[in-house]
Amino acid sequence: MPELPEVEVTRRGLLPHLSGRVISGVEIREPRLRWPVAPAVRRLAGRTIRSIHRRGKYLLVDCGDGHLILHLGMSGSLRLLPSGTPAGKHDHFDLLLGDRWLRLRDPRRFGAVLWTADPLDSHPLLAHLGIEPLSRALDAARLHALTRGAKIQIKPFLMDGRRVVGVGNIYANESLFRAGIDPRMPARRISIEKCKKLSVAIKHTLRAAIRAGGSSLRDFVGADGNAGYFQQRYWVYDRAGERCRRCNEKVRRIVQGQRATYFCPRCQR
Ligand SMILES: [Zn+2]
Repeated sequence: MPELPEVEVTRRGLLPHLSGRVISGVEIREPRLRWPVAPAVRRLAGRTIRSIHRRGKYLLVDCGDGHLILHLGMSGSLRLLPSGTPAGKHDHFDLLLGDRWLRLRDPRRFGAVLWTADPLDSHPLLAHLGIEPLSRALDAARLHALTRGAKIQIKPFLMDGRRVVGVGNIYANESLFRAGIDPRMPARRISIEKCKKLSVAIKHTLRAAIRAGGSSLRDFVGADGNAGYFQQRYWVYDRAGERCRRCNEKVRRIVQGQRATYFCPRCQR
């Protein structure tokens, strides 16, 4: 599943190729995605793309008088292809940009192609998103304040997109390891010092993933086939029963909120 780092790498990869481009048309082959493709999307021709922003895992294509909202869902990927490239079975949407087409491939159809002319903060999909983990808004003081009223453990807290957005299961596990925090710790009991470590660890973990994905940037242009999600070496994620890379203790696996949690009982207290 594309996580925040894949979406951010997609944004950075597409930005120089899309900025300033005029939309020459759209091609909707399958409107039944997670939500029906917005009818207004058919009327985008003639608009100039100003920029691409990201909020959580939503890509926001700024068209001046509104935003095209794209989400990759469970299996989506975006490619920039030469115009006329034949569409495959799962290529449901193209944004035509003259001699280049931006193509959404989404086998499981949990992605989204929407349009809004309203302020982004008020859009129903965006209004309740938590703070951006890579922004300055996430720091020790903010995390400490956010956790005080929380009646849940720190791992599900991190994965609740209404509090902090875009920290998926892999990155929650890895960040808690880096910060040396037991994932079962009640969120409201995390000290300000640990909040400092955790906010740094979250940014570090996400940025490392973005860097790992940066090497595949060229794949966004001209190539065909499926986007590979980033292969990384994890501290604890998916390593149950294996030795901790730091202390040699066995990595444990538990389940929290129906999601697998991996941690080192010696390094994370
Ligand atoms: Zn350890």
